[in-house]
Amino acid sequence: MAGTHTIDVTTIARDGTVVLVVGTPPTTKLLVSTTALSDASEVFAALLGPNSRNGQKQRSPERPLEISLADDHADSMADMCRLLHGQCAPKLEGLVSVEKIYRLAVAVDKYACVQRLRLHGQALLLGYLEMHDRAGHTDLGRAAAAALLFQHSRAFSNATKRLVMETTGCFTDFFTKDFAHVIPPAVLLSLTVKRASAQSEITHNLPRIGMPECDRPDGSESELTDSEDMMEEDDVKCDNWDAVYVEKICNAFGVSYWPPDFRHHTISNAIQNIRDLGTVTRRARTCQHTGAIKEVELSEFLDVVRRLEKLCEGLCLGCVSEGVLDLSKPCRKRREHA
Ligand SMILES: [Zn+2]
Ligand SMILES: [Zn+2]
Repeated sequence: MAGTHTIDVTTIARDGTVVLVVGTPPTTKLLVSTTALSDASEVFAALLGPNSRNGQKQRSPERPLEISLADDHADSMADMCRLLHGQCAPKLEGLVSVEKIYRLAVAVDKYACVQRLRLHGQALLLGYLEMHDRAGHTDLGRAAAAALLFQHSRAFSNATKRLVMETTGCFTDFFTKDFAHVIPPAVLLSLTVKRASAQSEITHNLPRIGMPECDRPDGSESELTDSEDMMEEDDVKCDNWDAVYVEKICNAFGVSYWPPDFRHHTISNAIQNIRDLGTVTRRARTCQHTGAIKEVELSEFLDVVRRLEKLCEGLCLGCVSEGVLDLSKPCRKRREHA
């Protein structure tokens, strides 16, 4: 061992007495310090410390003890060990892919180093989310999973919000990847509920603003009614349907009939479409009971946008940790869980 290890071993601790042999051949060998790793994590202490099975075995800087970690990912273990030894991890600088961040999170979680490396995890995740404003759904799922493992509530909230707002299709379809087991079923269900509520708000309330429902028969008595305008027969309900209004909201979404097919429309895109509506003028006024509206002002559409943004708020990590089942409702312990 002595003399040979210097060739293919990555030296992380010059005076290290343990070589971690990571992965399946070709393996990566990392010369590390037992003390640095044992101080950082109970799992390493149990693996390498004096009371461990390996603890009694002879080791020295000249004849380091080899320990096989066949199931682990070489780069992630190297990065994690460097950080635990207080060194730079060059591969974690600059633009780092979310796969890399997720794999690091898996290693950090497995070796119980979350406390020690939480700040690194935060920086990586927030950096990723900030730099990738057009991440795909699988990558956002990975970011949410990594945020769960790093116990980082802001990144988790951000990633889950974007999953609701920026993706289409069934979450279970793209959560069947490597990270699916990290995401609790309650999270999956709540994301689905939140996106469906936002879609329903668009489908039902956007027409309702410009074409308010009216249950009154046209001839009924009403304090709002101007009696001169009541000419229709009893029991005929008001019809506020307006072809021009429908056409305008359809045009805004680029569809030929309402509602739009949400397999092709994200909530983010829908919000932009609604903002672009401006003031919409109906062909005719609505009934007297509903205020004889001809023009629907932008501010009314912006109210829909605000409701959508509220519905799409990210999930609370504190609530996930507490095992709250319906995460689609706003957190009740915001201060505690922030
Ligand atoms: Zn009416
Ligand atoms: Zn909460």
